[in-house]
Amino acid sequence: MARIVMKFGGTSMAGSERIRAVAVRIKREVDAGHQVAVVVSAMAGTTDQLVGYCREASPLADPAEYDVVVAAGEQITSGLLAITLQSLGVSARSWLGWQLPIRTTAAHSVARIEDVGTAAILDSMAAGAVAVVPGFQGLTADGRLTTLGRGGSDTSAVALAAALKADRCDIYTDVDGVYTTDPRIVPRARKLQRITYEEMLELASVGAKVLQTRSVELAMKEKVVVQVLSSFSDAPGTLVVDEDDEMERELIVGVVADRNEAKVTLVRVPDKPGVVAGIFGPLADANINVDMIVQNIAKDEGTTDVTFTVPRSQLPASIDVLEKAQGAIGFAQLLHDDTVVKISVVGVGMKSHAGVAATMFRALASRGINIQAITTSEIKVSVLIPQDYVELAVRVLHTAYGLDGPIGTDAETDI
Ligand code: ASP
Ligand code: MG
Repeated sequence: MARIVMKFGGTSMAGSERIRAVAVRIKREVDAGHQVAVVVSAMAGTTDQLVGYCREASPLADPAEYDVVVAAGEQITSGLLAITLQSLGVSARSWLGWQLPIRTTAAHSVARIEDVGTAAILDSMAAGAVAVVPGFQGLTADGRLTTLGRGGSDTSAVALAAALKADRCDIYTDVDGVYTTDPRIVPRARKLQRITYEEMLELASVGAKVLQTRSVELAMKEKVVVQVLSSFSDAPGTLVVDEDDEMERELIVGVVADRNEAKVTLVRVPDKPGVVAGIFGPLADANINVDMIVQNIAKDEGTTDVTFTVPRSQLPASIDVLEKAQGAIGFAQLLHDDTVVKISVVGVGMKSHAGVAATMFRALASRGINIQAITTSEIKVSVLIPQDYVELAVRVLHTAYGLDGPIGTDAETDI
């Protein structure tokens, strides 16, 4: 007998028929003798609609009331799933965030889970009943409802699995696992059987959206074994686990394109101590997150060019901040470009293998793709390239690192 937390995403919960299919899956685990707790998302589209209502009511909606509104989607699906399970003869009931309770910080709309009350669920499991818990919601110390940030149901599920000391947290979604790259770009993309927490975090940070980043951080900290699977097929999913020496490792596990960056170049910045601080200080004060940075060597007149990237959505704010600081920084001209894409390759294997970056640069050069900026971490190399070359670059890199599988392997996804 295992103790399992099963989490179902918005696409899996969209409509009565799909909820029935979810209930059948849960019944299968219960019939196999497992103890089961379930975490659900709102039906796909519901949360967006609720957020829209709040904006219409007031662009500056009170975050505490915003939470009351947007948490409602999960209340609906948890009740519906409990009813559907009962109709299949499975004993089940819903446990809302405030009933357990799931205690969070008071940071409305981006709250963090502090503690999960498990007594009620443990009793319910011992009695053979399925506890259905709405994801995304919690309760502050002074009794107000909170939500955990978009995509937060993944984090609810992992937190519940950690608190219940579950053997596994199965996250059912609309893709059947984690792929080496986007199968829509590369039909030869392969599904990974296993991936480490670290790799999953890096992939999430560069735009792969399978799991909410915070849920992976929590799984890593609490050592929760997470499995990503599809609610629409019985194919084996991807296990997210701790690094393990026995693991037969790929050097690179993923190639990801991130279209959310924009490039800024400050031309002819005086090349003297303190200037770079003068550029990035005001950006940091405006909460603008700078990612890649390139500073050229000084030219004859004692000036240099500084290039960096910012989130595309923050480009207008960045330009505003820098123009206001132009006098203090002393640059001659500001250039910007939002037709760039960051391509990253990720893999724990590069910690112990030389030449990963060289392979990347060679592969891109072989197709005449110009690199505009580079950053690296211990397990990731990223380059900035013109957006017209994204698909070519992803395909070339996927091949260069030996990731290509046969066309269409497991690539049955409905993303
Ligand atoms: N329903 C919430 C959202 O759409 C939480 C979740 O689904 O994870 O962001
Ligand atoms: Mg999600």
